[in-house]
Amino acid sequence: MSNQDKIFPVPDDFAKNALIDDTLYQKMYQASIDDPDAFWGEHGKRLSWSKQYTKVKDVSWSKENLHVNWFSDGELNVSYNCIDRHLKDKADQIAIIWEGDDPNKSENITFAQLHRRVCRFANVLKSMGVQKGDRVTIYLPMIPEAAYAMLACARIGAIHSIVFAGFSAEALAGRINDCRSSVIITADEGLRGSKSVPLKKNVDEAVKHALGVDKILVVENTGNPVSMKGGRDIWWHEAATGVDEFCEPVAMKAEDPLFILYTSGSTGQPKGVLHTTGGYLVWASMTHEYVFDYKPGDIYWCTADVGWVTGHSYIVYGPLANAATTLMFEGVPTYPDASRFWNVVDKHKVNIFYTAPTAIRALMGQGEDFVKKTSRKSLRLLGSVGEPINPEAWEWYYKVVGDSRCPIVDTWWQTETGGIMISPLPGATPLKPGSATRPFFGIKPELVDSEGVVLEGATEGNLVISDSWPGQMRTVYGDHQRFKDTYFSAYPGKYFTGDGCRRDEDGYYWITGRVDDVINVSGHRMGTAEVESALVAHDLVSEAAVVGYPHDVKGQGIYAYVTLSAGNDGTPELAKDLVNWVRAEIGPIASPDKIQFAPGLPKTRSGKIMRRILRKIAEDEFSNLGDTSTLADPEVVDDLIENRQNKK
Ligand code: ATP
Ligand code: MG
Repeated sequence: MSNQDKIFPVPDDFAKNALIDDTLYQKMYQASIDDPDAFWGEHGKRLSWSKQYTKVKDVSWSKENLHVNWFSDGELNVSYNCIDRHLKDKADQIAIIWEGDDPNKSENITFAQLHRRVCRFANVLKSMGVQKGDRVTIYLPMIPEAAYAMLACARIGAIHSIVFAGFSAEALAGRINDCRSSVIITADEGLRGSKSVPLKKNVDEAVKHALGVDKILVVENTGNPVSMKGGRDIWWHEAATGVDEFCEPVAMKAEDPLFILYTSGSTGQPKGVLHTTGGYLVWASMTHEYVFDYKPGDIYWCTADVGWVTGHSYIVYGPLANAATTLMFEGVPTYPDASRFWNVVDKHKVNIFYTAPTAIRALMGQGEDFVKKTSRKSLRLLGSVGEPINPEAWEWYYKVVGDSRCPIVDTWWQTETGGIMISPLPGATPLKPGSATRPFFGIKPELVDSEGVVLEGATEGNLVISDSWPGQMRTVYGDHQRFKDTYFSAYPGKYFTGDGCRRDEDGYYWITGRVDDVINVSGHRMGTAEVESALVAHDLVSEAAVVGYPHDVKGQGIYAYVTLSAGNDGTPELAKDLVNWVRAEIGPIASPDKIQFAPGLPKTRSGKIMRRILRKIAEDEFSNLGDTSTLADPEVVDDLIENRQNKK
């Protein structure tokens, strides 16, 4: 039996105690599809509205009249919903556990403290002249001030745009200009794996190319000296001493913007995704509660960075709207060593743990010992997001990390979707390694062929969503035409995800990779995920990426980049073995034509493999690699080019 046929039933005790079991899932799902207005009208009440909505869904995806409105006559404030409303009975509960890069540093922040600090932050922003509707760029490391800054913007109605603190001055300048933001919040330096990152210096460099920045608020983090320009640069700790500890939250319309966030840039130039207030928060909080089966008292940890949408929805907004205790981690999974995640789990008694396949594969490559020497007894549920998780990595996560006790929720979603779209509910859904399983409430996934014909039953095609949900993006900031073109022009009336997908006999969804990355070998179309998963299933392989390249006979050949686990060498014999291995696992049609051993793969800063770059190298066309501003480790590319297998 191959991995893909394995089924992991819901553990009995998990089902018994879960918020949602299978019967309830079916019932609620059907209700959400039959009558979205009634369903969301009811579930919108999970938030506190300063003005109750009377309208629920007002959406058209037609080309002529594209608009998306949810709860549009309601008013609320996100910061109030994430903090103030919990003060009555949870003021002393921990809202944020901050774990520093340095394993000896951590801090617990209660809801009462969070309230005071966010209010202060909001008052400082006001004193700097920030008003409702202004764009504020946040370029901060994973320190509590990042959450304060987000919530402070939300409190006064400013629109935040977070730029991942690992990005260069140039990438930062581009994003500041794109959303025309005049205020930047940053820190002196960031700290990751004991190395410092010169954030203020990058900002100084960026504003030379970014017009119209008049104020820079600087958080003191490492304390190393940085240059401060009089009249423009303000220390947070100095500004904060003079301001009031209370700031009235501003009533926002449900469709007022909450934030702009740029996509990861896996497939091209990042898009400035705009999310609004009411629908987004309903979606983030409801998915957080049900997908993670969150119950009061749980300690919840999402390892993402706030620079990505996962950090927005599942470190800050979703959990805090649910009055959860959310852990925020400044560091990296391998510092001081590869046990760090599990040490943090033990230290803070984490119950729910949510990370990305890239981290799992990297830790898998380091061996079991780093995991096994920790307890992890507190863990109850595991999660994955960002890329298809190879069944091999899934099983390692399940068995080694979770000791075969904890269900895994493999959550498929996008920056554009605001929150989780397809995922198991852990008390309801039997799991299949590598499948994101079934749609969340209100989500109508469809598979279509290239002509847009809807395919029924067990089949494979392009994944579209056929109706709106409250958390969907509203526009590409400043470029509504790009919004229409990117998502609603390929299949009129439907939201095109850009992902390929298979649906099996049980109605489970399997993301097969990006539609742009599909390989066509002798007329057989193949997603990248399946071939990559076959390679990763080999003992010596820790990571793999496959792309197509022009092939005289087959149309396209399969080119595989392979990273071996620690201590193994890429010999010609091993390359041959791997080809035979894939042939045996999937079939001759999928056997790679070229194997290149690579010490590392090009990834976005959020850890996704950038196949568009690998495709260029495989085609021997590497002089123009396209937008590389979101690439994590540009040196990796030089090695790949040098050792390419298709030199002309
Ligand atoms: P860009 O849109 O700029 O190319 P991106 O698509 O990588 O960048 P994100 O919004 O961060 O930006 O990522 C969303 C994509 O990540 C999805 O479209 C999908 O391809 C992939 N993805 C996320 N979660 C999963 C998952 N659980 N299984 C499979 N794929 C996933
Ligand atoms: Mg995308």
